[in-house]
Amino acid sequence: MHMVDWKAIEEKWQRRWAEAGAFETDPDPEKPKFYLTVAYPYPNSPQHIGHGRTYTLTDVHARWKRMKGYNVLLPMAWHYTGTPLFAMVERLRERDPDILETFLNIYNVPEERLPELEDPISMAVYFAEEIKHGMQRIGYSVDWRREFTTVDPIYSKFIEWQFEKLRQRGFITQGSHPVGWCPSCGNPVGQHDTVGDKEPEIEEFTVVKFRKGDMVFPAGTLRPETVFGVTNMWINPDATYVEAKVDGETWIISSEAADKLELLERSVERVSEFQGNKFIGVTITNPVTGDEFPMLPASFVDPKAVTGVVMSVPAHAPFDLVALDQLKREAKKNPDAYRFKPSDIKDLEPISVIEIDGYGLVPAKDAVDRRGITDQEDPKLEKATKEVYSAEFHGGRMRNNTGQYASLPVQQAKEAVKEDIVAKGYATTMYEMLEPVQCRCGSEVVVKIFENQWFINYGDPAWKRLAHENIDSMTIIPIELRQEFHNVVDWLREKACARKAGLGTLLPWASDWIIDALSDSVIYMAYYTVIKGINEVGPEPEQLTEEFWDYIFLGKGHSGSVAEATGFPAEKLEEIHKEFSYFYPLDARHSGRDLISNHLTYMVFCHNGIWPRELWPKGIVINGSVLMEGSKMSKSLNNIIPLINALDRFGADPLRLSLMITAEPLKDADFSPDLAKNMRDNLERFNQRVVKIIAQGRGSPDNLHDIDRWMLSRLQSYIAEADEALKELKVRKTIHAAMYNLNQDMDWYQKRVAKELERPERVDAIRYVEWRVLDTQVRMMTPFTPHLCEEIWEKMGGEGFIAFAKWPKVDESYVSQESEVLERMIQTSMEDIQKITRVTGISPAKIHFYTADGWKWKIYLKALELAKREQLDVGTLIKEAFKDAEMKVRSKAVPGYARQIVDDVIKLPDSEAELRLKMGQLNEVNILMDAVSFIEGENGCEVAVSAESDPWTEDPAKRAHRAKPYRPAIYVQ
Ligand SMILES: [Zn+2]
Repeated sequence: MHMVDWKAIEEKWQRRWAEAGAFETDPDPEKPKFYLTVAYPYPNSPQHIGHGRTYTLTDVHARWKRMKGYNVLLPMAWHYTGTPLFAMVERLRERDPDILETFLNIYNVPEERLPELEDPISMAVYFAEEIKHGMQRIGYSVDWRREFTTVDPIYSKFIEWQFEKLRQRGFITQGSHPVGWCPSCGNPVGQHDTVGDKEPEIEEFTVVKFRKGDMVFPAGTLRPETVFGVTNMWINPDATYVEAKVDGETWIISSEAADKLELLERSVERVSEFQGNKFIGVTITNPVTGDEFPMLPASFVDPKAVTGVVMSVPAHAPFDLVALDQLKREAKKNPDAYRFKPSDIKDLEPISVIEIDGYGLVPAKDAVDRRGITDQEDPKLEKATKEVYSAEFHGGRMRNNTGQYASLPVQQAKEAVKEDIVAKGYATTMYEMLEPVQCRCGSEVVVKIFENQWFINYGDPAWKRLAHENIDSMTIIPIELRQEFHNVVDWLREKACARKAGLGTLLPWASDWIIDALSDSVIYMAYYTVIKGINEVGPEPEQLTEEFWDYIFLGKGHSGSVAEATGFPAEKLEEIHKEFSYFYPLDARHSGRDLISNHLTYMVFCHNGIWPRELWPKGIVINGSVLMEGSKMSKSLNNIIPLINALDRFGADPLRLSLMITAEPLKDADFSPDLAKNMRDNLERFNQRVVKIIAQGRGSPDNLHDIDRWMLSRLQSYIAEADEALKELKVRKTIHAAMYNLNQDMDWYQKRVAKELERPERVDAIRYVEWRVLDTQVRMMTPFTPHLCEEIWEKMGGEGFIAFAKWPKVDESYVSQESEVLERMIQTSMEDIQKITRVTGISPAKIHFYTADGWKWKIYLKALELAKREQLDVGTLIKEAFKDAEMKVRSKAVPGYARQIVDDVIKLPDSEAELRLKMGQLNEVNILMDAVSFIEGENGCEVAVSAESDPWTEDPAKRAHRAKPYRPAIYVQ
């Protein structure tokens, strides 16, 4: 047996590709270009299998396009800027045991090298090297001549230019705006700074000022329209609250809320501090309705959320409903434990203010009862809340007890109520995190109103229009996500773009600010196309002025005058500008789904803000993530496999194949070591067949039989399927067509012709078919398993690298639906025999096939014809049949047979029925006779074929009369 030496072939082909500069791409005016990129990695840790999916898919995309005849550029660089490196270095310096364990035992960093990683740049260099090594070892077809880091001085000049352009076009603003903020780090916080890469989303809450005399009990809500249904208030009895003067009013709020209000630029003066318990039982007034009700205790109230005081709307808020019911029960059992009497609360009933189809009077009760929830700490309450919120938001209408808002849809009432009660002074607003988010340092992220902060103004309506236009005109894979991009464009507002700490480029006009990592990574795709040319000249960074970049990216000015002003050679300026113009616009940007709400949309905006339409991005590909044996990968589960280790264990091609075989668009891929081993076995088996076919030679197509045409026809359909699937990067489907299904048909074909190889006149045709299948299959698998395919290609005597061979095209002359129909009949007959022998348990001594008589064919074809005209039913068929005089003598058999045929024909797909009608009556005896040697070989017994009414037909079990067209009767003796 030939086993594949994976390591040897990987090293061999990676060396050959590198020596030949195979993937170093320069402009070629003779060829169409395809330019794609994938996020440059943050080198603060090695890449693991989870990263493998996005990067491998990008490489598959690049390799496929290359074989389709494009001049493909896939570059790579390193994102050093931002805080992730700082955060990691900090934890290492502190000898955080978790990090030490990870570095030593998961990342396999040698202990003696740990001290050198205690510097951000050294750590970046260390991991960038390791990641690059991994990308080379897995066979990514990257042009490494264009590599850079985001702290290179030349890159900084480029980012300065980007910000100058945005500022000149009015997209940079300065002012006071809410930003996600880490109080410990003293920095604005973006998605890349948070635990789990969670986007800090800020919401403006309505804060209703419930009162007791002069005292305000402000309650934050995202559902101001439910203020008409408040039955009581909640406070956490064990949390710390304060009385504070807030902008001159006396507010009772949690201690945390007081801190947050200060960050929100309110004037806050703490007067006293106490437990929430203090106010339980007091009577509170609803400023909107004038209703009076008690303040009650609830453990679900989180003092960290908004004000720490909550209005209770049990009809529409499941938490409130459950907490109120629970309190009633407990107060009855234990009346002395509370600062109120059970009778004070026993009449508090939900007040429904929203009606909605599919729910009863109290929607929250339906959602709670369906889940059997009785405790306010039940985690299922989150789901119930989401359900009610969403149902009411999308389908709810205000009831008659809401005054002027009665019968308004909830969506409209929400805004209207908020506006009105704020205007009347019954409420105010407060920015708050939509969901809790943690900074990488461990602190809770809060909202801060930031003075003099610099923003990129993604809220600019004119700019938004351009972004919408770009999103409408680009290819988005999967297409379902286009709307998600539009939504993000709609809700984006000013985004803080600079901070006071971290690595990065200084704002050109305010050098005490450092541009942040989500703002210096949005147009760098353009930089790849020019950095190689710039490096060839090796200028001082100061030479690269605004007019230098204006010329190479925007074609502004003249090379001569720019050369004079910058000292950069004119002909080189022209060459670099041409190279940019050749590769731009970007054809595809690959990324994960979590980056739609920031990076990917920022990329669209910034391109729209700087370049004319014809240079806007043309495509975005979104990838799902990877699970490890069904679970999320995480350090705590200890199931993260660094890419380098996986390459050692499984080999590059099996690893690539297993990352792709499970990659359905929008779904998580499920990786497991077993899957990788399985893929390796599949490839080994494939290779065994290949070795034999190559040894046999190419054969000749001069004398093809039906079965040969069948195989070649199947091959064409897989080519079409694979190509169609790859257009939407449905790689799982592609692999199924190109590998699994094609292999299955090849197994069948080789079994089918095994005996025929004994006949010399058949050998050449069979060799031809096998070679042809191999030649096609190895091309289709190249994007997925490039090393093995290069190796096979070389043995086949292929020209150059298979990486640049032509992607197969359907050869119409080999498409033969007829041969596929005939072969399906043989396959069905084989399955019938297997069923019979399985049921009866006999090992056959002889198999008889009986084919249908001519009169049966006549009725069958008549039925197909009627079906085509949509007139097929039993009565019509019988009537039509008897128009033929021949049928009169079979008047007993015809009606029963016609009934069966109608059943059969109705089940046929239209295309198949039409094809059968076109093919007319078959000579089934001949077709079966051609397969006799195969059927005999497979069953180890003699096979007899005859028409049902041939005089010589042996029919001891009286089966022959059951024969139908396409379904010969079978008797196993
Ligand atoms: Zn922090």
